[in-house]
Amino acid sequence: MEKLNEIEKLTDLDAIELNGKSSRYPGFYKHDLSIRLDLLEQWYPLTTNEKWMLKRETLTPELADIMVENAIGVFGMPLGVAVNIKLNTRDYIIPMAVEESSVIAALSNSARLIRDHGNLTSKATDPIMFSQVQLVNVKDPEKAKTKILRKKKDLLRVANQQDPVLVKLGGGAKDIEVRILDSPGGPMVIVHIIVDCRDAMGANAVNTMAETLGPILADLVKGEVVCQIVSNLSDRRLVRVKMELEVACLARAGFTGDQAAERIIQAYYFADADPYRAATHNKGVMNGIDPILIATGNDWRACEAGVHSYAARSGQYKPVSKFYRDKSGKLIGEMEIPMSLGIVGGVTSIHPGVKILLKLMKVRTSMELAELCGAAGLLQNFSAIWTLATEGIQRGHMTLHARNVAVFAGAIGEMAIKVANQMAHEGRVRYDRAKQILKQFLIWEKQEQRKQNNGKKKNMTKSE
Ligand code: NAD
Repeated sequence: MEKLNEIEKLTDLDAIELNGKSSRYPGFYKHDLSIRLDLLEQWYPLTTNEKWMLKRETLTPELADIMVENAIGVFGMPLGVAVNIKLNTRDYIIPMAVEESSVIAALSNSARLIRDHGNLTSKATDPIMFSQVQLVNVKDPEKAKTKILRKKKDLLRVANQQDPVLVKLGGGAKDIEVRILDSPGGPMVIVHIIVDCRDAMGANAVNTMAETLGPILADLVKGEVVCQIVSNLSDRRLVRVKMELEVACLARAGFTGDQAAERIIQAYYFADADPYRAATHNKGVMNGIDPILIATGNDWRACEAGVHSYAARSGQYKPVSKFYRDKSGKLIGEMEIPMSLGIVGGVTSIHPGVKILLKLMKVRTSMELAELCGAAGLLQNFSAIWTLATEGIQRGHMTLHARNVAVFAGAIGEMAIKVANQMAHEGRVRYDRAKQILKQFLIWEKQEQRKQNNGKKKNMTKSE
């Protein structure tokens, strides 16, 4: 019954108006939080209750208690939206749950740049995941492989009996593959159950199939089954993204657009040659992806594992994106990564905030969400490298981070903004400086208060 409800939810999403709305919101960041929520109504008709929930509480302690063992509460995180995104032929607004100050600003800015001076495309493959069954103590692995492959049809039928909903939707177990691996404990027979997961991430679905087939396979090859689990190196569920950009708009910090483009490419070469740099390069990619995964209730650890293992598939850890210039001189960014995520199942179907945010995004399939995540990852990555290769990362980043430092130093509300602005103006965003500035402002405020009070007293004496 629960599963059928999921299908109904998809139908709801289909009814959402998709076309004719622009996600271009000039100066969105300048408004205060409530106005931003009101402005989003032009994009999607949020109800008063939904707006209240987004602002105050999307997950209750009662629900948290159902979701995890030993729950003691609910942990908050800033939730924002990246605006201006135009991907393939459509506009999008992207919700991001993230604590790092510069992430949402960077995505919105680079999206605006591409929108005005370039093009952004993204394409996901079919949502194919696979689980692995490990068989040990198999006498003749080659013979076992042949036996398993001969029984493929029967095995797939049994696997599909475990998930009639998935099969009805056009997904389900599609193929079985067998590998033989050497190990210190002797040869192992590894069976892959290849499953089309449609709009679910699919880990539970493929794990159930693996646990059903495990004992059957062990019996068939007279071996012993050990692990039966999804692989997070989901290299058949990929997303490919491409951005194209006129280089003139890259001029910054005394560099011409042409020079900035060349420096971006040099920065990419560095990441390609050096795993130390590649790790940070790829972290920049995940800066764009993880916040969306969190906001949409997806398993970001699974995606992280997938992306990093994919980055190391050649034997050396590499950047997952690359940058070059085409014949016309445009800067081109390309990326291919695994993206195992869902818009039904797991937490996506339970978390009230996720339900609102998925509607706000107007994504209709897991493939569309993967395309959006891939695009956000590449834009975020581009934005970081552009800054890094021109003005340096600290200036912009620290300006945004200044408010956190101010709060850390004890400033609250308006005072935190004042202290942050002063530090940014001085170019000294440091805890000790925040403390000094805060102290000065507080003294000054007290003096002003005293002056005002004295003024009032004098006026009262006069009138008496
Ligand atoms: P799930 O079992 O909650 O939901 C998937 C099921 O929903 C499908 O099997 C299908 O029966 C049904 N369904 C209804 N409508 C559907 C549609 N349109 N498309 C596809 N299926 C539809 O969740 P799941 O997606 O199988 O698993 C995801 C969860 O598994 C995540 O929460 C993840 O954290 C967890 N998990 C991850 C790992 C890992 O990554 N290593 C391991 C175990 C569990």
